[in-house]
Amino acid sequence: MSSIQKLLVANRGEIAIRVMRTCRAMGISTVAVYSDADLRAPHVRFAGEAVRIGPSAAIESYLNIANVIEAARRSGADAIHPGYGFLSENADFAAACRRAGLVFIGPSEDTIRMMGLKTTARQLVSRAGTPTAPGYDGDDQSASTLRLKALEIGLPVLIKASAGGGGKGMRVVRNADALEPAIEGSRREAEKAFGDGALLLEKYIEKARHIEVQILGDSYGGLIHLFERECSIQRRHQKIIEESPSPALTPELRERIFEAAVAAGRAIGYVNGGTVEFILAPTGEFYFIEVNTRLQVEHPVTEMITGLDLVQLQIEIAEGKPLPFAQRDVSRTGHAIEARLYAEDPANDFLPATGTIHGWTPPPSIAGLRIDRGVEQGTEVGVHYDPMLAKVIAYGPDRIGALRKLAYGIRQTTVHGVQTNQRFLLRLLEHPDFQAGDFHTEFVAEQLHELLDRDGQADAKIAAVVATLYLHKTREAQARILPHVELDYRNNPYRDPSVKVMVGTETIEVGWRRLDGGRYAMSIEDWQVIAQPVEFEPGSIRLTLDGAQRLFSVTEAGGQLIVQMQSGPVAVRRLPRYPESNAAAGQADTSAPMPGLVSKILVTLGQEVHAGDPLVILEAMKMEQTLVAATDGVVEAIMVKQGDVVAPGDVLVHVNPQMTQKNADEKT
Ligand code: ADP
Ligand code: ADP
Ligand code: MG
Repeated sequence: MSSIQKLLVANRGEIAIRVMRTCRAMGISTVAVYSDADLRAPHVRFAGEAVRIGPSAAIESYLNIANVIEAARRSGADAIHPGYGFLSENADFAAACRRAGLVFIGPSEDTIRMMGLKTTARQLVSRAGTPTAPGYDGDDQSASTLRLKALEIGLPVLIKASAGGGGKGMRVVRNADALEPAIEGSRREAEKAFGDGALLLEKYIEKARHIEVQILGDSYGGLIHLFERECSIQRRHQKIIEESPSPALTPELRERIFEAAVAAGRAIGYVNGGTVEFILAPTGEFYFIEVNTRLQVEHPVTEMITGLDLVQLQIEIAEGKPLPFAQRDVSRTGHAIEARLYAEDPANDFLPATGTIHGWTPPPSIAGLRIDRGVEQGTEVGVHYDPMLAKVIAYGPDRIGALRKLAYGIRQTTVHGVQTNQRFLLRLLEHPDFQAGDFHTEFVAEQLHELLDRDGQADAKIAAVVATLYLHKTREAQARILPHVELDYRNNPYRDPSVKVMVGTETIEVGWRRLDGGRYAMSIEDWQVIAQPVEFEPGSIRLTLDGAQRLFSVTEAGGQLIVQMQSGPVAVRRLPRYPESNAAAGQADTSAPMPGLVSKILVTLGQEVHAGDPLVILEAMKMEQTLVAATDGVVEAIMVKQGDVVAPGDVLVHVNPQMTQKNADEKT
């Protein structure tokens, strides 16, 4: 039995901090690793010491096995926790730890290798009697065999990358004509992302639910489960909300799933913490899909209902200790639910967003509300890593209590400066079907329209009023120092002063008039509200609006005022008094719709293009997008080069619609 003294966390963000928190509680010293982008990251400052492991790109730092092992050697760490993502399910990494004499906090190399391929995992567990969906996991990977097998299984079929993860390389095929191109596409994606093009076919179960079971095994053959988590709320086959208990299971079904998970764990001799994932069909049948050989993002849900610390258990098992309890000794109470707060744009296909977090306030600390975060005021959210910012986890005596607390926790969190899914999460939690426990893995896709901006209108007006008064109070404060700053600026002495702002794509003119007692009559078109600023300081304004008092946090960032509303942040942009003329030339520019990395430029200067022709391939975390020409014309300027990091709105290519090929030639 070994006793770990110093542990290196080979990860970043919230999970690195979460692991180190337990180390502290156990008296274990902590070592963080960081890339150049993370020089000042919260996980680095949380650690006892930190070692640089390379440039910003993950492949050169957090995924660089040699650099991570060297960091452990230099800092004198005796163990490594891999977190999730990155090297956590990499058998070569576990082997490198062993060779370097480091304790790897996770299962054995063999287990990781066997479970790393979905095909092998499926074969192994089905031999142990665990049900798997009708499918094909054979070695013959020719397109003709795959096509034949798909038709035998019966459409719809789900194509998966055997070596896959994170929803990559997955495609649902609903008609026979689409089979061949889908097989090719998945194979290409799998080769690119995992260096292994092997595919697996499974019957696609419609309206399925994702149920998974946490397991825990020690080195002495002890193996137990720590109940289920339901993770059916997903986008692009990736989880957003997870909870336990699952509202979908009857006691009998639940017991059968636990048995299946434990049987699968025993069949592979599982040691340490892991998760067995299942798909539950509307018929009540369930099928094994994969084993995740690591700590799961959603593990706090299990911690809250059992009162256990999974990281502590992982560390103790890796030290060679036996499980401290038997199956009959573990119990759960109440209900826990987690929501992942992502930097992304739900209205734009959940594309990752980037920016600087200018305003960050976590929810107040209340019993039963936990926030695991990897960001703080000033954190830059870049293109290099996963865009998850934080997880909010709530515990209640029952599901409705837990949901209410989660919504409260999310509402009380302020993230300004980067677009997030905060409003989307709140609407999801309010959805009657979600509240009734009536949902499945396609819920988000089906209900997307419902889940996007519903109350934007009312919010926009209030936010515009708050921003106007905040601006006014800021000027008043400045005027005390700089007496020449004009206060009630008016274009027209016969009209009330007004300010033009933009909320979303809407231009709003806010009129205001001073009343007695420090009150203001604020108006937008024929809507009016009496407002009274009660307290003002940079960063917040306390207002009474028609008699109801509230504190609004306001962040100034990039020419905008971001106002925190109940349902999330609203960005208000002050418009210049004299709007610039809308340059028509702009229409021929192709600009970046999302932050990303220019992965390929498909045209050359002077080339003639037609509207719709591909110009540039832009890549962001987990996403590739081909940008096309907006008009016929000639490529007049290419503003970027391969490998450049671009921000949304950056112009990448300018096409001159007036030029023909002929006069382009004359010009050069
Ligand atoms: P990953 O390694 O990307 O997590 P999984 O095999 O665990 O891949 O599947 C991810 C998600 O895809 C599941 O949570 C579920 O929503 C969906 N899924 C997987 N297999 C099936 C299936 N056979 N039928 C329907 N949905 C499935
Ligand atoms: P889970 O079932 O726990 O959600 P996933 O396979 O979806 O498992 O990925 C685990 C987590 O790791 C996800 O939240 C994802 O955002 C994150 N992740 C996936 N790939 C990477 C990566 N290359 N680097 C960092 N984090 C990643
Ligand atoms: Mg999975």
